[in-house]
Amino acid sequence: MSDKFDVIVIGAGPAGYVAAIRAAQLGLKTACIDAFTGKDGKAALGGTCLNVGCIPSKALLDSSRQYWNIAHNLPAHGISVKDAKVDMGTFIGRKDKIVKQFTGGIGQLFKANKVTAFYGTGKLLKDNNVEITAADGSKQTISAPNVILASGSVPIELPFAKFDGKAIVDNAGALDFSEVPKRLGVIGAGVIGLELGSVWRRMGSEVTIIEALPDFLSVADADIAKLAAREFAKQGLDIKLDAKLNKAEVKKDGVHLTYTDKGGEQQLVVDKLLVAVGRRAYTKDLLADDTGVKLDERGRILVDEHCHTGVDGVWAIGDAVRGPMLAHKGSEEGVAVAEWIAGKAGHVNYDTIPSVIYTEPEVAWAGKTEKELKDAGVPYKVGTFPFAAIGRAVAMNEGVGQVKMLAHAETDRILGAHMVGPGVSELIAECVVAMEFNGSSEDLARIVHAHPTLSEAVHEAALSVDKRSIHKGN
Ligand code: FAD
Ligand code: NAD
Repeated sequence: MSDKFDVIVIGAGPAGYVAAIRAAQLGLKTACIDAFTGKDGKAALGGTCLNVGCIPSKALLDSSRQYWNIAHNLPAHGISVKDAKVDMGTFIGRKDKIVKQFTGGIGQLFKANKVTAFYGTGKLLKDNNVEITAADGSKQTISAPNVILASGSVPIELPFAKFDGKAIVDNAGALDFSEVPKRLGVIGAGVIGLELGSVWRRMGSEVTIIEALPDFLSVADADIAKLAAREFAKQGLDIKLDAKLNKAEVKKDGVHLTYTDKGGEQQLVVDKLLVAVGRRAYTKDLLADDTGVKLDERGRILVDEHCHTGVDGVWAIGDAVRGPMLAHKGSEEGVAVAEWIAGKAGHVNYDTIPSVIYTEPEVAWAGKTEKELKDAGVPYKVGTFPFAAIGRAVAMNEGVGQVKMLAHAETDRILGAHMVGPGVSELIAECVVAMEFNGSSEDLARIVHAHPTLSEAVHEAALSVDKRSIHKGN
């Protein structure tokens, strides 16, 4: 069978499904092909994010936070709960239900927007033909003047700690433990290591995280990373920096790890090992040899600033291309490409993409870190404000962390916003809006913020840039 579309999207993660919906909204006849199989063995739209990433991890982060609070937060409110128990079936089942609700929701959105969904593996052939191989091996070819590649990413595997899906797992495995591991080892103190390490720590695991780099969370602003490290240590996350895993052997009594740190060679035995050392673009079976689409030195699909591959009508977006591996980054690229295809003015501002780590406290930032400004020789001013002086945060018994704002020393334009503390995943949005409009710290300082709210920390940090914070010394 051969069928003609205006746009074909390969991959239905947050990059691909959003591109498909936006293209269909713009009147383009759109097909979206996806190969993901859910836990029930059926097709599941939504990619990594909805199936084994953003959504299930946040579901477990929230359940585990409730459990942790019983022993670690409620007593401060004068509330004590005896014999709290966890039903693991409900704990994991709730997460699965949420995943199913949202992956099913994409199917409904496709129907509502008249996107044709194909379940199978899509391969780009020459001249914008796409071959679809279904699970039973049957093949069909469809074509379109525009093809958007949105094949996403997969976890990086370490040759000396290969995933076996039981003892040594990736993110998908660590979202599905049938019981709380007594001892959990994590390789990589990045976003996944910290979020999923937190989930299982809160549920009672002894968590040891082995991180190769000497600096903790080196992608974040150093002051924020330092404050976050202190809080994580208090929660019992044992993070070993400058530590290199040499060997992981699965034995009857657990996974035997050998790693080297400043003190020399160390041994550690854990019940489960989560390897979270980053992800790599996934392009297996995606491209026929003669398409002309190129990969970069890291195996990502090579694109220009408009997500164009250089091959007529072939675009690529999301985790499969350069830039941060974040759902919202991929979705915005999806919208922009659909709009460019439809002859409209698409737009992605890579300078204001927010990053969030959904730990407790949360960590969030957008724009440049202090070190980046220093290294680039940009003159800057710093404003900070601690959550310990925010009435709402203290009333919530969550008065930890701070907001730090960086503004240009001469123009006052906000160059970076960095936060660790309660609810900062939401607070960062205000700074992103200000930065998107080239706002200054004075703009935020002069905006009325409701009292008492956590957003007052952003307001006070903005005031503090010009040393006029009201509720702390300047
Ligand atoms: P993906 O979501 O990976 O989707 C790609 C899809 O394409 C998949 O369904 C795949 O099966 C399919 N595919 C691949 N090749 C083919 C082919 N040839 N034919 C057909 N289909 C194909 N990001 C955030 O912004 N916030 C978070 O809180 C967050 N949490 C995360 C937690 C975890 C545990 C993980 C692992 C990731 C998290 N991320 C988060 C990152 C986020 O999931 C990714 O950035 C996002 O999913 C990338 O979207 P994408 O559409 O590019 O790729
Ligand atoms: P990451 O890049 O965030 O962290 C990987 C960590 O592993 C780094 O600190 C790195 O130094 C370390 N590392 C690398 N090799 C190592 C080794 N051999 N031994 C020890 N440490 C090693 O990657 P991740 O945590 O796997 O997450 C993958 C991607 O998924 C990230 O790019 C992130 O953007 C995305 N993600 C986002 C969110 C979110 O937005 N909240 C949540 C989870 C994942």
